[in-house]
Amino acid sequence: MQQLIKDLIKKGYLITPNIIDAFVFIDRIDFVPENLKDEAYRDIPLSIGHGQTISQPLTVAFMLELLKPNKGEKILDIGSGSGWQSSLLAHIVGDGGKVFAVELIPELSEIGKENARRYKFNNIKFIAGDGSRGLEQEAPFDKIIVAAAAFEKIPEELYKQLKIGGRLVIPVDNSIWLVVKKDENKFEEKEFPGFVFVPLIEK
Ligand code: SAH
Repeated sequence: MQQLIKDLIKKGYLITPNIIDAFVFIDRIDFVPENLKDEAYRDIPLSIGHGQTISQPLTVAFMLELLKPNKGEKILDIGSGSGWQSSLLAHIVGDGGKVFAVELIPELSEIGKENARRYKFNNIKFIAGDGSRGLEQEAPFDKIIVAAAAFEKIPEELYKQLKIGGRLVIPVDNSIWLVVKKDENKFEEKEFPGFVFVPLIEK
């Protein structure tokens, strides 16, 4: 197991066996550009071009632990970028599940899809387009995760596109928020401050 993963476990960021398995199986090096392969196992975000980054491993671990993805689930991944997190999720949900990976920048959507190809998933759909209002046509989802920070508030549509019992993990400014849908109009929310994200482009 890579030192990076051991460290994330030791520091308490990686906890759940299915998430740890995914980190071991889906190799981050496959999702970083050629010129940065040496840096793949450092706990830092790395440039993937077009002004965007592959997220910091610690942040991905923290957000997935809040999301609690499981086998068989239907998950919306907004801001798929390099395709790393989408692939971690596809590994976790398995053949009976489905990951919808939405990315605003078409070239990055293509790169993410290309990077994930070696894993031969048949349960990820890469979609180039704006995900700031979710993905109405595929809703509802068991889980929704967003990799770019919303401005000041969580987009309303994301609450609607969750199943009851579903979980949404989304950065707003410099905080990560966990939203749990208790009932059609009842949500539990918790804020975890102190993170840095690229902005979610909201049109
Ligand atoms: N999970 C990715 C993180 C990429 S950074 C990875 O680990 O590689 C966040 C991504 O969100 C960027 O690629 C950015 O282009 C994308 N993004 C920003 N606004 C978006 C929007 N409205 N809809 C979809 N993707 C968006």
